[in-house]
Amino acid sequence: MKDLCLICSGSAKKMNCYSHQCEVCGFYFSNLSSGFGQDVKGLENLRKQNFKKILRIILNLNDKPKILEIGSGDGYFIEECIDLNILIYGSEASLDSLKKLRNKFKNKAKIYKLSLPESIIKKTKSKFDFIIFNDVFEHLDDLDKVINTSKLALKKEGIIIINSPTSDGIIFQVSSFLMKLGFKKFYDRLWQKNMNSPHLSYFNKKNLSLLFSRHNFYEFKSGNLNSLDANNTLRFYNLYNSTFKRIIFSMLCFLFVFFQKILPKDIMFIFFKNK
Ligand SMILES: [Zn+2]
Repeated sequence: MKDLCLICSGSAKKMNCYSHQCEVCGFYFSNLSSGFGQDVKGLENLRKQNFKKILRIILNLNDKPKILEIGSGDGYFIEECIDLNILIYGSEASLDSLKKLRNKFKNKAKIYKLSLPESIIKKTKSKFDFIIFNDVFEHLDDLDKVINTSKLALKKEGIIIINSPTSDGIIFQVSSFLMKLGFKKFYDRLWQKNMNSPHLSYFNKKNLSLLFSRHNFYEFKSGNLNSLDANNTLRFYNLYNSTFKRIIFSMLCFLFVFFQKILPKDIMFIFFKNK
């Protein structure tokens, strides 16, 4: 039986037992069950560099932005905003992370308890210039509702920023190729299968823009971010138990950091503005 694409209603082909790809717009989606909580560790430096890049663009557009982050996790984005004196509001669905964040930031940033697609504006009671999803959007269910509830919490001319991995990137392409050959670990790892909060979607720029255009948003600015840095191989430590394999993968990561300059990038960000 074929499943339909939630973005363009095109028919989708089965990739494996849990994932499909739309044959029309190329959108990948999974039937893994949604959840919240964090799984990925060891990315602090890299993520902070990427956040700096996004914040530079935000400050160019608006020198006094009021930003809401959906799903603040460890709070790295909030930290970067506080460093730059930006008015930032965080949010979390998981009670554990919520407590940690409130403890960490005390009165420096307000953190909302928020579990989308519930009404954002009902919780915040105020509107924002920017609503940002950092590695969160691809974990969410009911995306039409998520976009609608975000729209209601945006000021006029407000912008939604999606920062997420892309299926056009070299990591996704190589992992799907390996999966077809029978090596499933990388592909499963990309979807964060068997983790607290697996990926439900894998977008590229084109189909993510198509989804937002259905809600009257247009792509205003976009770019790519780095997915690995040289001293950042920790994420591969959970994949294999043997020290030998870990060393090999660490070395491959190191090489990859250099190749990354010329290969298709794995993380994208898009600024969507309301028409
Ligand atoms: Zn589609």
